Amino acid sequence: MDLRKVSDTPNDSAEDVVSQFTGKVAHRIYWGAVLVTLPLAFIQAFEHQWLMLAWLCAFICYTSVTALRVKRLSRRRGRHLIFVTLLCAAVMYSTLVNGIHGLLWAYPVMASIAFLLSWRLAIIVTVTFVTVLAVVSLYTIEPDVAWRSLVSLLVIMILTLTLVRLLTRMQLHFTELATTDTLTGVYNRKQLQTDLEQLVALKARHGRSISAALCDIDYFKDVNDRYGHFDGDRLLIQAAQLIKASFRTSDKVFRVGGEEFVILMPDTNLEGATKAAEKLREAFAENDFELKQEPVNMTISIGVSELGSDESWLEWLERADKLLYHAKDMGRNQVRNTVQEIA
Ligand code: GH3
Ligand code: MG
Ligand code: MG
Repeated sequence: MDLRKVSDTPNDSAEDVVSQFTGKVAHRIYWGAVLVTLPLAFIQAFEHQWLMLAWLCAFICYTSVTALRVKRLSRRRGRHLIFVTLLCAAVMYSTLVNGIHGLLWAYPVMASIAFLLSWRLAIIVTVTFVTVLAVVSLYTIEPDVAWRSLVSLLVIMILTLTLVRLLTRMQLHFTELATTDTLTGVYNRKQLQTDLEQLVALKARHGRSISAALCDIDYFKDVNDRYGHFDGDRLLIQAAQLIKASFRTSDKVFRVGGEEFVILMPDTNLEGATKAAEKLREAFAENDFELKQEPVNMTISIGVSELGSDESWLEWLERADKLLYHAKDMGRNQVRNTVQEIA
């Protein structure tokens, strides 16, 4: 396995990508709100509306400070709730004072809510906001205009929420596609680099034991020659399933080459990882892989290494790779975990 080619580009998990996207949108909404509010503040000063001016200034200060402080404002845990509450209160006050002209600001506010809050929270806030706004509008706007505005507001909100939900799902789906091996369904080589970097950082921060196993199916070329490439693929799918089932759910399995797999084991020392690898080796050797014609038996060779302090992921995996080749040299169908045995 050419370890340097694990991935050329940095890679993020599906959640990270979505969170970065919504974070950027949120950041822009905050600055957009400041830009829109600034001229309004000048108008209030010009018209001697001191209460409204004070309110707008407080809003501008809060929004600028929050947007500066948090570069990536994630949608989790209602982080934008204060900002959204301020926006809604501003629209209600403006509707009370300016009638239909104030109500018009409810449209951009509604669209922002869809991007800033989680799906559920956005629905709760929307229903509350529109209900209170309906009561306020009845006092300040002609009923005919008021109910038409509120219904169109609700329709726009439903469309925006649906669009945001669709975008989020699509982004999750595409990121999943980009990080999954299409044949076996385990993680692919691209995802491996992200996980390796995260684990090296985890080791540096908390000094936890982290191990890796590098596996290669023995004589797989012969299997292909005997049964053909398509049946070879079927066997690879079964092999990946068996590997996944042999390890804990907190361990991650990656396909890094034709019949080569890497398993990353957080919170596992060399001894524990070797035991887990030995369990897989045994299960693999005893398993009857199924093809239409007949049961097929295969074996697997495994190199195991634990991440050392101040070690890079490349050095870590290179040790596992050398140990895997050593297992092959020693006759295959075995697990190797010590560097001394290589010499
Ligand atoms: P060794 O015990 O030394 O690992 O022998 P091997 O034959 O498994 O090793 P080698 O790396 O020489 O061959 C790997 C073979 O895996 C080559 C190719 O026929 C097969 N292979 C690689 N990718 C795929 C794939 O996606 N599908 C199938 N069916 N076979 C593949
Ligand atoms: Mg190979
Ligand atoms: Mg092989």
